[in-house]
Amino acid sequence: MNTPTPETLENGYFGQFGGRFVPPVLDVKLANLALEFQKVIKDPTFIEELHYYLKYYVGRPSPLYYARRLSETVGSKIYLKREDLNHTGAHKINNCLGQIIMAKRMGAKEIIAETGAGQHGVATATVAALFGIPCKIFMGARDAERQKLNVQRMKLLGAEIVTTEEGTASLKDAVDSALGYYIQHPDAFYLLGSAVGPHPYPAMIHFFQSVIGTEAREQILELENRLPDSIFACVGGGSNAIGLFSGFLEDKDVAIYAAEGGGAGTLSRTASTLVMGRPAVFQGTYSYCLLDDADQPLPAYSIASGLDYPGVGPEHANLKETGRVTYHSITDDEAIQAFKDLSNLEGIIPAIESSHAVALAMKILKGKNELAVVNLSGRGDKDVERDMEKE
Ligand SMILES: *Cc1c(COP(=O)(O)O)cnc(C)c1O
Repeated sequence: MNTPTPETLENGYFGQFGGRFVPPVLDVKLANLALEFQKVIKDPTFIEELHYYLKYYVGRPSPLYYARRLSETVGSKIYLKREDLNHTGAHKINNCLGQIIMAKRMGAKEIIAETGAGQHGVATATVAALFGIPCKIFMGARDAERQKLNVQRMKLLGAEIVTTEEGTASLKDAVDSALGYYIQHPDAFYLLGSAVGPHPYPAMIHFFQSVIGTEAREQILELENRLPDSIFACVGGGSNAIGLFSGFLEDKDVAIYAAEGGGAGTLSRTASTLVMGRPAVFQGTYSYCLLDDADQPLPAYSIASGLDYPGVGPEHANLKETGRVTYHSITDDEAIQAFKDLSNLEGIIPAIESSHAVALAMKILKGKNELAVVNLSGRGDKDVERDMEKE
């Protein structure tokens, strides 16, 4: 795994981005969490336990699969990193396992998490069941109504669903209500789902997802005897992307591309934070955010609920500023086309989130004859129904 730099470990900064902008009560709790994180990454017992579950519970390493028919169609040699084959069907479980093992060590009496579409809620409820720790999932009432199947899954896994009617009764309101609960309950552990929020979460989630990039680098070297020319991932908060990228950031000859949820392609209907947003403090960290003319956060929009977030992790803001990673906006329509193409060409139905990465790769790699790795962050069973509605 890929350990954060000492500077990032200490204060959570990636260049000028990151940090911890929270009220004093939270600051104390998060400083404590940051200390624990510094301890566990040096503790062989912790690392061993994490690897045990990644191997036997999640099913890692995930394959690096040569997509022959996709490659022939595009005119470049494309490998897919198959995070869709993980238990629960996406990369989110890697991070949830790391955090729940920390929670257990810290003696947490309860796990709390927020969820929008329910994907992070299900992954959290899964690991809470695995470790036998009670779990509360905070959700906007409107989201809970729209995501009945995931609500049912979480209940089956033993989680309690706490809905809020505040605001627009969606993700941002769920975060507010979970934070309120967290402040009042010292024994609760807040299990955050992406590489966003205040320090130490972006550094922690980088670490727990770096298993993707570490494996992919070893696998491509074994299969092709060389590094790829380029790598691709989609970015919501940025956790699956930072996971893959972390394995290749030092390899200056590897071009790195990220696909944001472009929605309909306008500022009022997009989730392309790095392409269309500006630097700001949002939800505890200094990073990029979608803002209106009065510098207020705009609601994000993308067909992919996993990309539908007006902020982005601070490490990505820095990677954009330094130019190490190139960020592109992929529209809903482009993602839907890639969703169909990959299903047809490879017999793999990708998550609509991951389809953004596939779409960007198909665009950039066309006729280039390059060697590339695309992160398939999750499987698309959840997206089939919407596709049927559009037929
Ligand atoms: C949640 C999710 C994403 C977006 O989250 P990141 O933190 O940006 O990785 C992408 N793909 C899938 C399948 C997801 O479930």
